[in-house]
Amino acid sequence: MPKFVTPIIVVSKCLEFDACRYNGQMIHDDFVRNLQKHVHFIPICPEYEIGLGIPRDPIRVLQMKEQYTLIQPSTGRDLTEEMNQFAFKHLNSLMEVDGFILKSRSPSCGIGDVKLYSEQNEQTPIGYGNGLYAQAVLSSFPYVAVEDEQRLKQQHIRDHFLTKLYLLASFRLVKHTQDLKQLNQFLKNNIYLLQIYDRNKTEEMQQILASSQNTSFDQLILLVEKWLFLSLQKLPSFSNLIQTITDLIDKNLQELNRQEKDAVLLCWEKYRQGIVPLHTPLTLLRSYITRYNQANLAEQTLLEPFPQDLV
Ligand code: SF4
Repeated sequence: MPKFVTPIIVVSKCLEFDACRYNGQMIHDDFVRNLQKHVHFIPICPEYEIGLGIPRDPIRVLQMKEQYTLIQPSTGRDLTEEMNQFAFKHLNSLMEVDGFILKSRSPSCGIGDVKLYSEQNEQTPIGYGNGLYAQAVLSSFPYVAVEDEQRLKQQHIRDHFLTKLYLLASFRLVKHTQDLKQLNQFLKNNIYLLQIYDRNKTEEMQQILASSQNTSFDQLILLVEKWLFLSLQKLPSFSNLIQTITDLIDKNLQELNRQEKDAVLLCWEKYRQGIVPLHTPLTLLRSYITRYNQANLAEQTLLEPFPQDLV
């Protein structure tokens, strides 16, 4: 299996791909641009796809009780049905996808930060919610990596997004192999990484797999998939991260003296505070692993969860 499987990501087309915004502009985004050489992007502009031109009059989301309506105030058009139908058809046509990067604040693509109005000409929003296309994404793909470009500017959110993306892409390939050995290898290589998300569940899963000689590949893959999806829902806690790093050192790097061990932990603390990027504590840890010749850790994805130039 290749070291990194190419993730498949659906992206709002106005982020680096096309000048398709309502005002005829494109948004430059360094992260999306940098990601282009590593992933397979599927750019999509839901508003263009439902026949709104470029440029176009703005649209907005109205909220009445629990009901969301997409309207264009200048024309009075109700676009709800068109958008929902497009989203349903488009999302159903995606065979496989590992993540979405959506444009923040858009009445179609925004996640959680879209202004909601009570009337089409009202000036003041009554709250914030999801755009209509984004809502369909979250309902159809509740477990893949979904973020907007603004949140991805925050280091810990971005690191979690990339970690999840590459883990899911690699798991997707294992599913295709139908090979139990590959599944076991996947778990073995990801064990420390998964421990930072949920230590108890990871141990439980190891035990299940160790006693699963009579379970079919299909049954096991469903079990692992469910566990993976649930474990990766939230950012890992820093205490889990430190406990996992401490375990890794205690089990594999007993040669480290007190100062070296403290230096590793201090580096992770600086990462927690946002002072250094993920690359810094990982490089230090990898240097000790190389120095003490711990080849058994070479395949551990915790040491390089995604390509280094994305850090
Ligand atoms: S935010 Fe979504 S709908 Fe709006 S221009 Fe970008 S891709 Fe198109």
